[in-house]
Amino acid sequence: MEPAIAPRICDLLVKGGLVVTLDGTDRILAGGAVAVEGGRIVDVGEGDEVPIRWSPVRTIDARDRLVMPGLVNVHNHTPLMITRGMIEDLGFAPMFTAGIPQGHRLSEGEATALSRLGVYEMLRTGSTTIVDFYRYPEALAKAHSELGSRAVIAGRIHDADPEALTQKRYDYSAAIGAASVAENIALVERWQGHDNGRIRCDFAPHAPDTCSDDLLRDVADLVRQYGGNVHTHVCQSPIEVSQTRARSGRSPVEVLDAAGLLDQRLIAAHCIHVTADDEAALGAAKATMAYTPIGNAKTGRIAPAASIASHGARMALCTDTFSGDMFEAMRWAVAMQRIRGEKDGLNARAALRWATQGGAEALGLGDEIGSIAVGKKADLVLLDLSEPTLAPVIDGFGALVWSGNGNNVKTVVVDGRIVIEEGLLLSADGAELVREAQKVAEALWARHNVTPVRQRHSRPAIG
Ligand SMILES: [Zn+2]
Repeated sequence: MEPAIAPRICDLLVKGGLVVTLDGTDRILAGGAVAVEGGRIVDVGEGDEVPIRWSPVRTIDARDRLVMPGLVNVHNHTPLMITRGMIEDLGFAPMFTAGIPQGHRLSEGEATALSRLGVYEMLRTGSTTIVDFYRYPEALAKAHSELGSRAVIAGRIHDADPEALTQKRYDYSAAIGAASVAENIALVERWQGHDNGRIRCDFAPHAPDTCSDDLLRDVADLVRQYGGNVHTHVCQSPIEVSQTRARSGRSPVEVLDAAGLLDQRLIAAHCIHVTADDEAALGAAKATMAYTPIGNAKTGRIAPAASIASHGARMALCTDTFSGDMFEAMRWAVAMQRIRGEKDGLNARAALRWATQGGAEALGLGDEIGSIAVGKKADLVLLDLSEPTLAPVIDGFGALVWSGNGNNVKTVVVDGRIVIEEGLLLSADGAELVREAQKVAEALWARHNVTPVRQRHSRPAIG
């Protein structure tokens, strides 16, 4: 008879779920359990083998739940929630569009309210690690800190005058550049490592056309000094490409290379209007492409993601603020490449990899998040298997990518802490966050002579 070993105390035990680990061997555990202690996964297994070893402070009954690692959403600007539902039919990025509420005209309080909405939506739909960069980056850091997400925050560095950009004109201003750099440095110095490392801060030059060559070189110096990733937009539009060619005689990718920014720290969103040389250079540098399938499609474009990946670039996935739902992004990611005629290696498992371990590795967090494995941070998402969109589950991957959606997510754990429980945000009143963002957005649009629809009709009298 084996000697009885007293169970060890742990913070949390998720028990009885279908655990899709997405680990190196793709283990899927029916009736699986995950034990969490000190914010990390300390045990993973099937049947009773894990529960028998632990005496948890808190247990989540995960029967009828699919347990998967939290999603890694590598490119967002939460205050741009202000343009959601309004910019998509206008055909281009908000920064270049006249007549809409512009980021540089938001107050810090308005940015905070919109950021909370964006963070809430992404958490609620299963993103546990979120890259978020914009003006007022400290407001972003506060929103992620309060609501409980794991976040990589940066500012929005540029020296092109945003007012001129809305008129399709590039006026570079050293004062604007210096202010945006100062804002990003202040963020890094005040917020780096906050919340037990849950908040990390990086640098984000907006794009090779909205940053001059000198400013990009300054950013490269800062990244050498402070470390971390560089987040930016690359080859998002024909106007960006024609501007860098006219200004510097180079493609946007070549501009980044000349500035010392094209390396494995680079996370480049969009990569739509790339040349064959650009694709090869991104691959040789082992840079990461932040693939934005829904954002691309919305403007009628498809980035050559599979081709760029075939050159050796790393792939990660994002929703870029337009919709926070990474499940939707996963299926668009594969479908859009198939429309381009790509076939090899494109399937549900690949999309899940881009949305988890791929993003984790891009952020230098490959050993910390991205799969369910002992030693990793406890960032877990529980989906409801009684939802019709998640049935039938046969191989464990297909239903998640091809029919699942963010609303199937019921419980979200970040750093071992339950932040969404049965659909409810625990760190704040979710409905109040939505109301507040609606109020802020209505006021901003009203300032742009757009009367929000909810203000257009007086309510009929009752009784
Ligand atoms: Zn973006």
